Amino acid sequence: MKVNVLGTLVDNITREQAKSTFFAFLSSGKTNTIYTPNAEICMEAYQNSTFREVLNRGTLVIPDGQGVVLASRILKTPVKEKVGGFKLTLSIFESNQKVSCYLLGSKPGVTDKAVKIINEKYKNITICGHRNGYFSEKDIPGIIDDINQSHAQFLMVGLGAPKQEIFIDQHQDQINCAVIMGVGGSIDVIAGEVKKTPDIFVKLSLEWFHRLITQPKRLKRMLKIPVFLLICLKKRIFQQNY
Ligand code: UDP
Repeated sequence: MKVNVLGTLVDNITREQAKSTFFAFLSSGKTNTIYTPNAEICMEAYQNSTFREVLNRGTLVIPDGQGVVLASRILKTPVKEKVGGFKLTLSIFESNQKVSCYLLGSKPGVTDKAVKIINEKYKNITICGHRNGYFSEKDIPGIIDDINQSHAQFLMVGLGAPKQEIFIDQHQDQINCAVIMGVGGSIDVIAGEVKKTPDIFVKLSLEWFHRLITQPKRLKRMLKIPVFLLICLKKRIFQQNY
């Protein structure tokens, strides 16, 4: 079942269900897309209908953050829980099931570092190709050929939002992977370039605060979150249709 968070249709599932959906996708015989909008991304989708339509074409769209969970509660259509994209990826890596992956995204050098770490840490995961995320339009056909020749089941696209979702939406028909997922800065976190949120911040629902203090350049983007929640509140009070 989908929950409408100011126009973005988010799947109302648990973390466990998201993980089993991922493995069901692997044997579905078709290409499935996974998007992981947080409140900043939902706000962007609220303001940009083209991006909103892209997200709404996703096969699985998970509520990646307490901001989205809170928004769904304010709108009186609460989702079950937060389903973090990075945590979902880790749970796949830690599942002991064999998965072949292609990593697309992050800065040159950082992608290589992430591949090395995954190879060392997760014996069930085969990285059959990778490429940094800095390329131009003319490179795209070659990148798609490389992905298809790698025969990866799982393509992780870490170009940041909305670039990665637009890339996935435009090219999914040419890509022969069972799952294509927008992973944001996950490749940076795996490589150790960006700090993983400490558990205490997660427990207190203060991941946004940890992000802000470790990456202060995000302030402008993050200021959208309270505005987003206020719009939800206004919609609840006045029962407006958006
Ligand atoms: N990135 C990339 N190509 C680009 C722009 C960004 O590969 O043209 C990468 C960047 O190096 C970083 C990720 O995309 O690894 C963006 O991470 P961020 O945490 O900002 O993701 P978001 O919060 O936007 O999902």
